[in-house]
Amino acid sequence: MKYVLVTGGSRGLGKAICLHLSKQGLPIIINYRSNKAAAEETLKQIEEQGGKGELLSFDVSDRDAVEHALEKWENQHPDDYIDILVNNAGIRQDSLLIFMQDEQWHDVLDTTLNGFFYITRRLLKNMLSHRSGRIINIASLSGIKGLPGQSNYSAAKAALIGATKALAQEVAPRKVTVNAVAPGFITTDMTKDLDENTLKKMVPAGRFGKPEEVAALVSFLASEDSSYITGEVISINGGLYT
Ligand code: NDP
Repeated sequence: MKYVLVTGGSRGLGKAICLHLSKQGLPIIINYRSNKAAAEETLKQIEEQGGKGELLSFDVSDRDAVEHALEKWENQHPDDYIDILVNNAGIRQDSLLIFMQDEQWHDVLDTTLNGFFYITRRLLKNMLSHRSGRIINIASLSGIKGLPGQSNYSAAKAALIGATKALAQEVAPRKVTVNAVAPGFITTDMTKDLDENTLKKMVPAGRFGKPEEVAALVSFLASEDSSYITGEVISINGGLYT
């Protein structure tokens, strides 16, 4: 049986993506780092809408933890494999570069970029041998445009976009697609410290986006209907173009 893995599925965009993808009838593996209660709530809502899911806790930036968790999952699921991977887990640690601490730089890069690398490398083999797979990387407007105060985050997301384009060309012959989604401002815990009333005036649509709107795009990219789209970066930002 084919499974979906959504990293950072406990909250925000990841939660909405889990719920949306579950409607396609696929079982969902909900990854989270520490917020078990929120991950359990995502699972509960999946089950309430008639879907199936399970929790898988690991820190995406910890190579050994990724290996251990995915190996354990594979041992428990000898007839199953992960066909759709959404690399969504991410953090912000904003600071002007001149004041940025080593940890702020490394934590953001490690989560977004190393997380993508460790998990994708681990799951790719099965996708290639099945000649089927979807990898969707959650990038950001910040990775396209660059935003002041976010040199770590912009660098991580821009690198993720580069990796998306390179990997897409490597695996296209085996019917695995790799795309990035670049959201603008979306209402989640990550943006709750921002001044939404001021910032939304910069957005032509006049508002922040909803997690469900991003989830609908991810769901399309995860579906059969998107089979000829690969190596793309799709912006979803209410018209807030770079
Ligand atoms: P939230 O802060 O609301 O949620 C973050 C999620 O990532 C949580 O599920 C959290 O798990 C998980 N997570 C964080 N670090 C790790 C880790 N090391 N290992 C495993 N899981 C981890 O963020 P959003 O939903 O807003 O963001 C989701 C993605 O979308 C991120 O990649 C973000 O950069 C990107 N994005 C968001 C935008 C926005 O406006 N919200 C705009 C553009 C991009 P736990 O609950 O256990 O802490």
